Amino acid sequence: MSNEHHLGEPVKAFSGDFTLQEPLPEAAVEAVAEVMRSGRLHRYNQSADELSIVSRLEAAYASWQQSQYCLACASGGYAMSTALRAVGVKPDDVVLTNAFTLAPVPGAIQSVNAQAVLVEANENLVIDLEDLAIKAAQHSGAVLLLSHMRGHLANMHELMRIANEHSLTVVEDCAHTMGATFDGTLSGNFGHVACFSTQTYKHINSGEGGFLTTNDPELAARAIVLSGSYMLYERHGAAPSADVFESIRLEMPNCSGRMDNVRAAMLLAQLPHLDTNLRRWNERYEAMRDAISASNRIALPQPTDASMRIGSSLQFRTPWLDENGCKDFVKRCAALGVELKWFGNPTPVAFTSQHSSWHYVEAHELPKTDQILSTLFDVRIPLTFSVDDCQHVGCIIASVAAQIDGQ
Ligand SMILES: *Cc1c(COP(=O)(O)O)cnc(C)c1O
Repeated sequence: MSNEHHLGEPVKAFSGDFTLQEPLPEAAVEAVAEVMRSGRLHRYNQSADELSIVSRLEAAYASWQQSQYCLACASGGYAMSTALRAVGVKPDDVVLTNAFTLAPVPGAIQSVNAQAVLVEANENLVIDLEDLAIKAAQHSGAVLLLSHMRGHLANMHELMRIANEHSLTVVEDCAHTMGATFDGTLSGNFGHVACFSTQTYKHINSGEGGFLTTNDPELAARAIVLSGSYMLYERHGAAPSADVFESIRLEMPNCSGRMDNVRAAMLLAQLPHLDTNLRRWNERYEAMRDAISASNRIALPQPTDASMRIGSSLQFRTPWLDENGCKDFVKRCAALGVELKWFGNPTPVAFTSQHSSWHYVEAHELPKTDQILSTLFDVRIPLTFSVDDCQHVGCIIASVAAQIDGQ
């Protein structure tokens, strides 16, 4: 694909697979085989004098994340519900969260029988700080489950100022921001506790899995007991000392959601490649974004100078299109081999991100979010695509934009 594609010229179809991930490194395959040969798959099935692979992974991730404590668990969603329980959310408590996020976020709030209060998104796809300030004032002392949806970071200094002013406890959902920074600080290190996902479409891949990180020893102890530690917490890799557990161990229920040694072995072998992969994502993102920028009709989110996003997906808006125009956009891109997700679809398709389709959450008036989502599209950027592939995809999107006029 040359750099010289001109809008309006026919563009060649793309044949890549948007859901195809890279194979795991051979070292991961070997490490998994070794765990299976040993028969020791459960995280607490080990000899007393050694750390299990899950515990070693926790220590390694805590160190990478620059966080004191880390719990490996069954999924990102599980990490979020555990974080909510561990910070003390009770039934019917209000939990503030983003109106623009993925269904497991309101799902985690529902799982602790709390009440989600949704906060508007702005055109840069982050939480709207004006609306947050209003709702924080109405619910001072509440928990904010802050979702860095699709990797976009709000101005975290301003956000934390609002949170502190209204005594909000911030739980960060970093499912798409493992490795992203704001003003040099890693996402997940702003709030009280952070949740990560190691599901296949995130930044490291164990099929399913998650991490919870925090610097609060009591919170870490509560999360570990909640995950189902069978009182074996002294075998953890990044846990507070045993005395911290004394007042907690019999108070917290066992809500089984541990990680096993097989998945941990996969992840431990991927961690040394994480920084390189984050750079590879950003090269691909930049190529796609620059090609899309050839169209002056398409609106791209404008990150603040302080934020460093990881471009494992790309979002753009087509503000000149109505509903039929957006459907046409998806169809024409699909005909050229480019798979888009349209967040404006009135009926949810696959991964749902439309607050109106979460019937278990009280209905909200969110005019700003609705307006943004009505013309918002999403493209996955798997690392199996080359930089040229990403430029090609961007050219297709820009040329389709040139073909469709508003109604
Ligand atoms: C994937 C995702 C999660 C949850 O992760 P799982 O591991 O699939 O439970 C949470 N928040 C966002 C924004 C996500 O995209």
